[in-house]
Amino acid sequence: MRTYENFYINGQWQAPTGTDTIEVINPSTEEICGVVPSGTPADVDAAVAAAKEAFKTWSQTTAAERSEFIGKLTQKITDNMQTIGELCATELGTPIGLSTPVHAGLPIGVMGSFVEVPFEMEKEEKIGNSIVVKEPIGVCAFITPWNFPLHQIVAKVAPALAAGCTMVIKPSSDTPLTAYYFAELVEQVELPAGVINVVTGPGRIVGEALATHPDVDMVSITGSTEAGIRVAELGARTVKRVSQELGGKSACVVLEDADVAAVAGSTASSICMNSGQVCAALSRLIVPRAKQDEAVAAAKAVAESVSVGDPFEEGVGMGPVVSKQQMDSIRAYIQKGIDEGATLVAGGTDMPDGRNAGYFIRPTIFADVTNDMTIAQEEIFGPVLVIIPYDSEQEAIDIANDSIFGLSGAVHSGDPEKAKAVARQIRTGQVSVNGGSFNVAAPFGGYKQSGNGRELGHHGLDEYVELKSLQL
Ligand code: NAD
Repeated sequence: MRTYENFYINGQWQAPTGTDTIEVINPSTEEICGVVPSGTPADVDAAVAAAKEAFKTWSQTTAAERSEFIGKLTQKITDNMQTIGELCATELGTPIGLSTPVHAGLPIGVMGSFVEVPFEMEKEEKIGNSIVVKEPIGVCAFITPWNFPLHQIVAKVAPALAAGCTMVIKPSSDTPLTAYYFAELVEQVELPAGVINVVTGPGRIVGEALATHPDVDMVSITGSTEAGIRVAELGARTVKRVSQELGGKSACVVLEDADVAAVAGSTASSICMNSGQVCAALSRLIVPRAKQDEAVAAAKAVAESVSVGDPFEEGVGMGPVVSKQQMDSIRAYIQKGIDEGATLVAGGTDMPDGRNAGYFIRPTIFADVTNDMTIAQEEIFGPVLVIIPYDSEQEAIDIANDSIFGLSGAVHSGDPEKAKAVARQIRTGQVSVNGGSFNVAAPFGGYKQSGNGRELGHHGLDEYVELKSLQL
């Protein structure tokens, strides 16, 4: 049980102006595992004022100074991997064997990849009689989700620090403990006061106060498309830059000459990662119609072999989903799939065997899905894979692109050149070609309603930069 009574503002632990609190629930046991304060617009004012004041000096630091702090933070996170893994296993429910390498390892990779990036800010471009220089955009507000509690924060904080921005973080109320722990690590590296501030509270109160605040220059939100649209609407009133990393419904396209059983097995396995609560999850498996049975057999075998249970128990492959709300929503989608006529081949709406508490979902596979079904169109954000058969390669590409989202995707073919050519036709921000792995230094972001802007690597820096032309 962790209790935080104060916000992290201006390098200090500051008392909230209100008295409301947020109870953090352990999704495996349904017990309270933490309490944090719930903020008000007045708390947001204090945090933004601190960030605004700190910007005056932080924006003037050298690239070498900022690089040093990014390096120190990377080391701090590295030194405390185990605690971060345990926190995410507790408040999010990721099995500990995965939680530490993913929820701590990924932020270490991302933060570490930004050590050299501050020096990009010192590069100037000469255009005719002009010199184009880069400057930090100013005070940033970061609104983050619960599915990767630290990664989603670090993916914004690292480029903002590199650019010379200051910031206020508002993490999700489902997983605030990891964010507070991060604030403790920030304090330990003695980052100048006010550069990073943390205020918790509901999106509708604290999130909206940040999105409308006149002294916030930019908002970056990772979350649902609905919340992203709301923040963009609010931010427009003061002409803020708004960066959005939103939902997805990504397709894995298996071409005729690929090993369909192997791909179906690995996709069924990956949809169970983090209980399917991954924005870039490959949740639609698009297979040649003649090979659907082969895909179903392989996916079903994997889904039924995953051990679902307590994240701290050895051998558990998948924990609960984050909240009761999330569990109810996923179960409603599974029921909708059954009602709309898809074939349920594994899983379903009932509790996994042996569980009578916690927010658990069985790994679920549907076959004979058509792309107009709700389970093929809407983001379920749970361990639910839909298998969609196709008759021609063009139809496979069309199905992949028939989505309001455009975050990620995958293509598999025995011919690497063909896989690459099809990948270029998928309208998403990233596509894995024949199993190509996630790259922390490559730009990440969405086409269409999956968002605007890119995170990660030196392209991620651009979000935090204002360009100034000096006419000589
Ligand atoms: P959510 O939209 O409910 O919440 C995300 C954040 O936005 C939270 O901090 C929340 O408090 C805040 N928020 C909600 N309403 C707000 C409002 N009106 N004004 C300001 N802030 C508001 O999303 P979630 O349930 O935490 O996360 C799941 C969603 O996030 C999924 O749709 C998923 O696809 C998406 N996601 C996207 C990415 C990406 O990089 N594209 C990554 C992870 C998650």
